[in-house]
Amino acid sequence: MENVSESMKKWMDQNNQTAHYIELMSDVYRNGDVVQFINDHRDELDEDHIDRSAAKLYEYVTEKRKLANGETTFAPGYEPHLIMSNHLIDVAYAPTKETVAREKMKSEQRRLKTISMPKLVKDASLTEFEKDENRVLALKEALQFISAFEASPRTYHQGLYLYGSFGVGKTYLLGAIANQLAHDGYSTTMVHFPSFAVEMKNAIATNNVADKLEAVRRAPILMLDDIGADSVSDWIRDEVLAVILEYRMQEELPTFFSSNLSMAKLESEYLTVSKKSEAPLKAKRIMQRVRFLAKQVEMVGQNRRPN
Ligand code: ADP
Ligand code: MG
Repeated sequence: MENVSESMKKWMDQNNQTAHYIELMSDVYRNGDVVQFINDHRDELDEDHIDRSAAKLYEYVTEKRKLANGETTFAPGYEPHLIMSNHLIDVAYAPTKETVAREKMKSEQRRLKTISMPKLVKDASLTEFEKDENRVLALKEALQFISAFEASPRTYHQGLYLYGSFGVGKTYLLGAIANQLAHDGYSTTMVHFPSFAVEMKNAIATNNVADKLEAVRRAPILMLDDIGADSVSDWIRDEVLAVILEYRMQEELPTFFSSNLSMAKLESEYLTVSKKSEAPLKAKRIMQRVRFLAKQVEMVGQNRRPN
């Protein structure tokens, strides 16, 4: 699109329409922003400077009016400002408040990566977290993590292992933590572990196991949701879960879990389900990593799921 000042210059060159010009410009010189700007820069501007800036002032007023009327502007999403440039008045374009807010929202959304997570996660927020006396402890732990982590993101911080019955809000709280971290500039990956396990099994056929595993285990902050909800195979336990946790521990990366099972039950009921004789030992080793990575916090309360 042609710049407004350019097109106006051309138009004026072609048509020597003085009367019309005067009419147009008197409107421009009556504009409050223009009056204010000229007043503020009085000592830098004489009449000649102002005359030579006419096209720019016209551009400013026209674009500003289009913006106010919701019409398409020269630079959509941006708004004009008057500035001084080389002793003349010029127009600079800066993102509108709405554009800045939208960009911020987009980059926040980019910081939260989810794999098969329920939609409720996107809108979960710490301020809307309903804290009855049972849940307040988990919220306190969450806030403690966030402030400790943000105060020194490069040192190791133990995540949380939230456990409790179905519907108490474990996933919601993890989502709320992740959204707060995203807002503050930190990236989190949330993984619904049972779905991820299925995805990994399917990835064997397409030779994608390594890539998928890599993305998850390297996440700056990782949340494994609903661990223990399915029945684990030896392969998922040893080649997926153990591999992820080993890496997180070595690299000291913050890791969260949510589960219907306590850590003790995760070990005895979930990880030891295989009948192979080495299962208890493997389960124990995995649990050492889980305990290193996360602090167990019980969440109790009523089932909040609608229906
Ligand atoms: P869990 O993961 O423990 O099974 P969810 O996090 O899925 O539980 O929560 C169950 C339901 O309750 C969801 O519909 C969720 O939106 C709602 N919920 C949970 N915690 C809150 C909260 N603090 N404020 C509002 N809604 C909540
Ligand atoms: Mg859940």
